[in-house]
Amino acid sequence: MRQTGPMGSRLAAAAATSGALALVHAAPSAAVLGTFAQRPPTAVPGGWCRWRWPGSAGDPGALALTIDDGPAPATTPRTLDLLDCYGMRATFFVVGTEVDRHPELVGEIRRRGHGLGVHGYQHRHHLLRSPAWVHADTGRAAASVSAATGATPRWYRPPYGQLTSGTVAAARRHGMQVVLWSRWGREFAERSAGPVVDRLRPGLIPGAVLLVHDSDRFARPGTAAITHRVLGSLAAELERRQLVSVLLDDLAAMHVPDLSSAVVPA
Ligand SMILES: [Zn+2]
Repeated sequence: MRQTGPMGSRLAAAAATSGALALVHAAPSAAVLGTFAQRPPTAVPGGWCRWRWPGSAGDPGALALTIDDGPAPATTPRTLDLLDCYGMRATFFVVGTEVDRHPELVGEIRRRGHGLGVHGYQHRHHLLRSPAWVHADTGRAAASVSAATGATPRWYRPPYGQLTSGTVAAARRHGMQVVLWSRWGREFAERSAGPVVDRLRPGLIPGAVLLVHDSDRFARPGTAAITHRVLGSLAAELERRQLVSVLLDDLAAMHVPDLSSAVVPA
């Protein structure tokens, strides 16, 4: 029924307020979504979200391989063996529930010389959650990683790469920086390695942040197997371009603050 009079006005005002709050809540995601298909900027001013670093002056140039959704006992050990085989370093964005189930795997990731970032405690979409839920989930995930490694995590990547105002606030309050990616493999949408390598290839530039997944738990079955097949081709492509894959920590350390090159995403 259509409301009129003072009650109708109050309902309309409440709806407008609710709409405005929803807009503020979702604005960060709206800001970053348009960057996924193109070469993204390095970071937004203030650094609340980063996609990559500017080109490295180092020789060979460096980029960061990041691997989401683990640890997974069925697939992460194979990932670690392949990374050793190809001499690549990676940063694993791990899911808190899986960290608590398999803390020994998280320790193994560290022992093998790789980095760790936080990918939420539950792998849930933040656009559908309240700021309070996101804050609690982020804190619990950071605590799980700290307990498993003895180190305070520095990097945060929200599940599905979707940011809300609550995501940004929670990451900062828990002492982490949000890092998305400048090129992803979308291996979860493919049936073979070729299209994944083709998708990654244009993004193999100094300062890039690459994303693949090494768990099937939150993606289509077979995703990790495709990632495993991609790693050899990726290593060959990096060698051909005289690029090396380093930890996010190391890539960040190669660069002084680059706010002059920061661009607000369109
Ligand atoms: Zn994920």
